[in-house]
Amino acid sequence: MQRTTLGDLELTIFSDGIYYFDGGAFFGVIPKVMWQKKVKADEDNRVRAGLNSVLVQTGKEIILIETGIGNKLPERMRKFYGQPAELLDNLSAGGISPDGIDIVINTHLHFDHCGWNTVRRGARIVPTFPKAKYYVQEGEWQHARRQFERDRISYISENYDPLIESGQMELLRGDREIVPGISVRVFPGHTAHMQAVMLASGGQKACYISDLIPTTAHIELSWGMGYDLYPVDTIESRKKYYAESIPEKWLTIFTHDPQVPWAYVKRDTRGKMVARALTSSAA
Ligand SMILES: [Zn+2]
Repeated sequence: MQRTTLGDLELTIFSDGIYYFDGGAFFGVIPKVMWQKKVKADEDNRVRAGLNSVLVQTGKEIILIETGIGNKLPERMRKFYGQPAELLDNLSAGGISPDGIDIVINTHLHFDHCGWNTVRRGARIVPTFPKAKYYVQEGEWQHARRQFERDRISYISENYDPLIESGQMELLRGDREIVPGISVRVFPGHTAHMQAVMLASGGQKACYISDLIPTTAHIELSWGMGYDLYPVDTIESRKKYYAESIPEKWLTIFTHDPQVPWAYVKRDTRGKMVARALTSSAA
């Protein structure tokens, strides 16, 4: 568990554990001879990926950004990705109960970002965080429910449809402030409506950039994932992101980095992107 403060906000990384991606899919068009200098693959060419959620405590609200894979993954997917299901235990070890969460923000609805939104209780699917208001982009949900052949495996209806039916999940249309200092911003590329979460307090800024830049190994503009639906937009969105985040020294928070959940990203004197990890207090 890593913790830091950003102005008046207290940020803590809570992981749902480690899971596995095919290395080729994780790095898209980048040849293995290049990516294996940064990340080692196992004998099946799989690489380790993190599932980093962030708990934001404002003093008034407790907000959970992203909910990992959860514990409802179908067997055929569990075999490949694994299902660590550690988030609730880790929250509990940090003194946080599901009842205490006021707001949940999902950047998009892929199974590895909203799995703990709900849990199975007997024959029913119920919210894991009963008192929370959940947020996602309406366009993301529309895409999910259309079940395209390309990516329908990534969208598991029980992670979100029960919350939408009950009115507990609000569908957003574009950029929005959620509470003062915390807002969402759409960055197309990975999906058309993926939203990043902006945190601002006391003149400092951080951004949970989600799958637009999944790990510190993906910070170069063209190092997108094979899963990106709109790879050209990924590059444009990254340009827009860096144009603000570098001069304003935003702390970038990485969903899938198994080692470095947050870092300052900048360009070195040769034009290469570098990430300087935040050395935060381990709690
Ligand atoms: Zn995704």
